[in-house]
Amino acid sequence: MADPRPFVIVVGAGVLGLTTAVRLQKSSRFQVALVGEVLPSDPINIRWTTGLTNSIFVHSNHQEDQWMHRVEQESFDHLWAMSEPQSDSAYCFTCYQHQEYRSLPIQPNRTLPLFASLSSAQDTQSLGIGCSFQTLCVDYEKYLAFLLQDFLMDGGQVIRGSIRHIDQVIEGGTAIFHEGTRHGRESRTPSAVIVCTGFGSRFMAGVEDRDVCPVRREALVLKAPWITTGVSVERADMSIWIAPRNDGQVIVAGNPTFNDWFPKHHTSTRTTLLPLAVELCPDLVPLIARDASQERRNESIRSLIVSEGCDIFDSRAGGPRLESTLRGSTRLVFNYGHGAYALQRSWGCALQVERYLTEPIR
Ligand SMILES: Cc1cc2nc3c(=O)[nH]c(=O)nc-3n(C[C@H](O)[C@H](O)[C@H](O)COP(=O)(O)OP(=O)(O)OC[C@H]3O[C@@H](n4cnc5c(N)ncnc54)[C@H](O)[C@@H]3O)c2cc1C
Repeated sequence: MADPRPFVIVVGAGVLGLTTAVRLQKSSRFQVALVGEVLPSDPINIRWTTGLTNSIFVHSNHQEDQWMHRVEQESFDHLWAMSEPQSDSAYCFTCYQHQEYRSLPIQPNRTLPLFASLSSAQDTQSLGIGCSFQTLCVDYEKYLAFLLQDFLMDGGQVIRGSIRHIDQVIEGGTAIFHEGTRHGRESRTPSAVIVCTGFGSRFMAGVEDRDVCPVRREALVLKAPWITTGVSVERADMSIWIAPRNDGQVIVAGNPTFNDWFPKHHTSTRTTLLPLAVELCPDLVPLIARDASQERRNESIRSLIVSEGCDIFDSRAGGPRLESTLRGSTRLVFNYGHGAYALQRSWGCALQVERYLTEPIR
């Protein structure tokens, strides 16, 4: 018997698409198909963002924006629950204490546990105004594999496919990826299509959002199991974060560069990023080398590098696009352009998508 529930297609299998698909399928109100050119099980690939890097939940100065605050709060609550030791997904997360420095005054953050402004005595003047809080670092490789399994176990369908025009799936459903015609057995047209194509939103016809622009960020992975706390600086002239993972590795992400398409890391990155990382977190230098000459210390820290790479993610002039519209009788929802806050908003955005699908259009 055909599934009586509304059929929903989520396009894009990065962190936003996958989270949205899991949320909708778990609600039991929809039958969901997830379509992506690149899937979470693929090797690291420059054609999507969610993969190379890890993500952390950072302090954001969005506390006065009620809507954004709600989205981030809902996401944090969900991720925090997923990271609890008794949760099946706990192994995907590292919970730790983080310090953040900014040049502008920091608003109190109601979302993050143990949030505290650092007193000026604790501020490292050269870094800026500081705060500290508890947060989590997500290991994307493990986390996406977990979400994918969760989605499949709940009866979701995953299809590898590239869409050139959004109308292809609105009109043809997932049948366009199978042999046969639109009149075949699988020709169920969707009630809703959710666009979570990240950077692809700039190029996919029918969406072609020219406000989406690339942000490129390089990252190093170091083997430094003695580091158990994190630190970041968010200033106009410097943006860098260091976060520990539960496998003894530490992620160091460097300055983002806008409108930068270069798809590989620069070999010079380790020479520029490592000294900054050490300045921010002197304990990165192995204990045995801390009193050694500068040259020895540099050698010692370079020997910790496990991998280096870069990612390009989507940022959007004018802010993220999370909205719903009708294309004929099909609900079309856009969920992209969250920039460096995609994970941080993922569950809140998925909830909002569910609200769009269950509430009447006003
Ligand atoms: C170094 C670095 C650090 C970061 N740190 C953080 C952080 O601390 N916190 C945070 O929240 N975020 C962080 N981010 C940002 C975050 O990782 C990305 O923004 C996020 O992964 C984007 O996810 P996405 O699902 O929107 O897009 P993507 O991961 O790019 O996925 C897009 C999906 O759409 C598919 N697709 C695109 N076009 C088509 C098409 N035409 N047809 C079919 N499929 C298509 C792709 O194949 C892919 O499956 C960081 C990013 C980097 C690079």
